[in-house]
Amino acid sequence: MSEISRRSFIKMSAALGAAGSIVPLGSALGKTGSEKMMKDNPIAISTWKHGVPANDAAWKVLSSGGSALDAVEQGVRVPEGDPEVTSVGYGGYPDEDCRVTLDACIMGPDGTTGSVAFVEGYKHPISIARKVMEETDHDMIVGEGAEEFARKHGFKKVDLLTEKARSGWLKWKAKMSDDDDWLPRKENHDTIGMLALDAKGQLAGACTTSGLAFKIHGRVGDSPIIGAGMYVDNEVGAVAATGRGEAVIRVCGSFLVVELMRQGMSPQEACREALERIVEKHGGKTDFQVGFVALSRGGEHGAMSLVKGFEYALAVDGRNELFKAEYIIE
Ligand code: ASP
Repeated sequence: MSEISRRSFIKMSAALGAAGSIVPLGSALGKTGSEKMMKDNPIAISTWKHGVPANDAAWKVLSSGGSALDAVEQGVRVPEGDPEVTSVGYGGYPDEDCRVTLDACIMGPDGTTGSVAFVEGYKHPISIARKVMEETDHDMIVGEGAEEFARKHGFKKVDLLTEKARSGWLKWKAKMSDDDDWLPRKENHDTIGMLALDAKGQLAGACTTSGLAFKIHGRVGDSPIIGAGMYVDNEVGAVAATGRGEAVIRVCGSFLVVELMRQGMSPQEACREALERIVEKHGGKTDFQVGFVALSRGGEHGAMSLVKGFEYALAVDGRNELFKAEYIIE
């Protein structure tokens, strides 16, 4: 247990059931053998409530024998295209200059990755990231270069700023105070990160976001950074992050959780340990949110956040439900 675990200022949440309704996968399925789950039971796990419709799309792929990679791409395209989701894709809140800039990354079971950041005018950065992964020998393309790449690959340019997002920006601009309703911890952290395990036991992950609402023009968070916003190691597990990207980057959050799993921690223990590391790195001052979802190659899942309020969607065995995650700070 790390030093931070022993500190009394953190009120640890009670046992899993008390903080939320995490269902141990083994009991949900009536199976405990991880090898069996790995082969027989596809799983998709994703962040926040828009993870539910995203998981539905992923499940269609997984249940028809499709790959985890196709599942995560198809899954996260749902919130990317939904104008009501103000933290991802089309309809995402703009930056301080009222420009919607998007970030995304994708990673497959063979360790290949694709990522785009600071992209304007394209609804589905996750699919551009996949093109980077499959059609170039690069891992990450940003800004105008990524837009040009998208255009050349036939992606259609669109205006991403919805009326809802624009009026949110106007409200923020009018107030610009530290105690208004637009602080990151309140409602602006809703990146979708999705992890999937397919029927062949292959893992993949995707992460896509409009980033922090009203961020400085050009700011990029953790979400498109392989190892920070998302990471997949097919021999160990996969992890995705949401919340204050700067805090996740500082600890290479998703990579850290995977490495802790490699050392023998369960996905849930590994998420907790990484969150405690973040608290430590910030001297115990955490006025922000970070959440992780994790999936082991054996099909065990974990989900946890710094602060109460993080939710995740889990699709397994034909069921797709939203759960409240355990947290470490009240
Ligand atoms: N992690 C994202 C970022 O920092 C924000 C979020 O999860 O909503 O850009």
